[in-house]
Amino acid sequence: MDRGYEKLFIGGEWVRPSTDRVITPVNPSTGVSLGSVPEAVEQDVDAAVAAARRAFDDPGGWATWEPARRADVMEAFATELEARAENIAQAVSSQNGMPISTARQLEGGFPAAVMRYYAGLARETSFSGVRSGLLGGSAEVRKVPVGVVAAIVPWNFPQVLSTFKIAPAMAAGCTVVFKPSPETVLDAFLVAEAAEAAGVPAGVINIVPGGREAGAYLVSHPQVDKVAFTGSTAAGRAIAEVCGRLLRPVTLELGGKSAAIILEDADLDPTKLGQELTISTFLNNGQTCFLSSRILAPRSRYTEIVDLFTDLARGLPVGNALDESTLIGPMATPQQRDRVESYIAKGRSEGARLTTGGGRPAGLDQGWFVEPTVFADVDNGSVIAQEEIFGPVLCVLPYDGVDEAIRIANDSDYGLGGTVWTADPERGAAVARRVQTGTIGVNRYLPDPVAPFGGFKASGLGSELGPEGLEAYLQIQSVYL
Ligand code: NAD
Repeated sequence: MDRGYEKLFIGGEWVRPSTDRVITPVNPSTGVSLGSVPEAVEQDVDAAVAAARRAFDDPGGWATWEPARRADVMEAFATELEARAENIAQAVSSQNGMPISTARQLEGGFPAAVMRYYAGLARETSFSGVRSGLLGGSAEVRKVPVGVVAAIVPWNFPQVLSTFKIAPAMAAGCTVVFKPSPETVLDAFLVAEAAEAAGVPAGVINIVPGGREAGAYLVSHPQVDKVAFTGSTAAGRAIAEVCGRLLRPVTLELGGKSAAIILEDADLDPTKLGQELTISTFLNNGQTCFLSSRILAPRSRYTEIVDLFTDLARGLPVGNALDESTLIGPMATPQQRDRVESYIAKGRSEGARLTTGGGRPAGLDQGWFVEPTVFADVDNGSVIAQEEIFGPVLCVLPYDGVDEAIRIANDSDYGLGGTVWTADPERGAAVARRVQTGTIGVNRYLPDPVAPFGGFKASGLGSELGPEGLEAYLQIQSVYL
């Protein structure tokens, strides 16, 4: 076994864990164990935070480097991530069931691109400026790194979501303690190897694989300066309470239940839009926070749209995530499959009409698979329309008039993603602007590193990506001269 899988990456070194506790990720396509990695407990988190603290407080260290020098290291890190992209994609796919084609594109490819983007921003951003004072003299206004960052991510996009935090934190001059989710830990060790190979200075990135307890301990650790969290709204609320008490800056990327508003003029020809529709509704087996899982269909085209999504769901190849042709892999854990199945049962008992799916696919008995499922005639007040299912389950709802579509879209505790489908992109943009959501697309949807990604309402606080994502790792200091 690789040394990285027996030791923890803390302070730029592979160190012996403080206990013999291990995490054993399992392949959800097969139920087969993927080996083990050490689990970080409180003493290991203490060591990681101390290493990050030392690296940050070092008088000549990372935080004090010229941004362009940090950018050089980040670009070398991106190169090392690229060199491991295929291994990372395979590791993610085999741990969480993401179809390998998706894992290659997003988990393998995106982190290096985001790292390079923030390296570029580090070079371009003006981190200080001098203003003439109204009262005489002048003021130097500086943007300084916020300090030691606790970065905590879920299992659904472990690489993308960690890079959304680590890259801007590094660009800002922060140091990071990164806690991956226990379901997806193997890829984090590949990142540690990439950081080591790239010469990322000791303590700038430290990795503590662990569960909820390690996460909670890290969030409230006295030596941490900022928390960056992606995960469920329930955990986000608990973390926000702790950070509120500690007056600790926090960004929260949480759950969603977004709407696809299909306008009457939409050309939904599957040969033209099938791929975009699939990405925006079923990406990563439905285990994606921003998916448009409520399909709002104009009553004049309701039957046609129910049929279209029913056919789309039926046509998606379900199978082992590592199979090149798979578009729907398994749920990441048995608990996640139970959760999705309980929502399907709820949908039936609430009176929604199941048009396809609802069960387990034939011939896939070893993993935790759920058939792509569509419910029609869904009431927006029902549980399956209001709660995040986090599986391949769509709800189709009829609407009369665009104002009603927007009212239904906004009748949600969440506000993370969404889409508008129309032959008239300008009209689509006008409708999109009326939806209470942090991000939304017209005839397509996939977050781009240049634009901020974040949620309204119960979907989160603050933004990641874009220059705004860098600001989240900076604080302002005025020096009167
Ligand atoms: P989760 O909230 O249970 O866990 C997420 C991470 O937080 C894990 O690493 C976990 O160990 C840790 N954690 C859990 N409770 C904690 C606590 N009290 N203190 C500190 N750390 C804690 O979420 P999950 O089930 O792993 O992931 C699915 C959820 O993530 C969904 O709700 C999904 O919508 C959300 N998500 C949001 C985004 C976004 O950008 N908005 C992206 C992906 C996933």
